[in-house]
Amino acid sequence: MNMKNRMSSQHSSHAVVIGGSIAGLLAARVLAENFDRVTVIERDYYPENPEPRSGVPQSNQGHFLLVRGKQILEELFLGFVEELAEKGAIQVDVIKDWFVLWDYGWSQCFSSDLTTWNCTRNLIENVIRQRERVLSF
Ligand SMILES: Cc1cc2nc3c(=O)[nH]c(=O)nc-3n(C[C@H](O)[C@H](O)[C@H](O)COP(=O)(O)OP(=O)(O)OC[C@H]3O[C@@H](n4cnc5c(N)ncnc54)[C@H](O)[C@@H]3O)c2cc1C
Repeated sequence: MNMKNRMSSQHSSHAVVIGGSIAGLLAARVLAENFDRVTVIERDYYPENPEPRSGVPQSNQGHFLLVRGKQILEELFLGFVEELAEKGAIQVDVIKDWFVLWDYGWSQCFSSDLTTWNCTRNLIENVIRQRERVLSF
């Protein structure tokens, strides 16, 4: 018996997540399967568009959506990657297209099946928020 069934027989269940960034929003998405209500407490105002906000100072940096993260987002939100691509994300092969200078020289580049997406972190978070229809007040 899951938490929702166990608790709904007597009381409604309520989960609270502190911090409504990518980790917090995804935690809320998973908790929503088991709790009647989920509240996310975030100290920033969410921008309407994919824009930086002060609570996430690294948000101006370009981000690679790492392969496992891409798989999990696609499981939680069907069509997530397609939506990112429609909004400007670029598909990359992380071995072939990613040049890294290590202590021992440049990384070897060759085609692989490790493909993922490059875009702003703001866009990833914005699409998650839209999928969850987060209300900001
Ligand atoms: C330069 C740089 C480049 C990076 N590039 C990549 C990359 O290419 N790929 C990748 O996968 N990762 C990358 N990362 C890492 C990635 O940005 C972080 O792992 C990710 O942002 C962490 O997300 P988070 O949701 O855990 O926390 P955060 O994004 O840090 O969010 C924390 C949230 O909690 C809120 N908060 C804090 N305190 C409170 C409070 N008291 N009450 C309420 N709310 C609060 C903040 O406002 C914020 O919204 C990079 C990081 C940096 C610094």
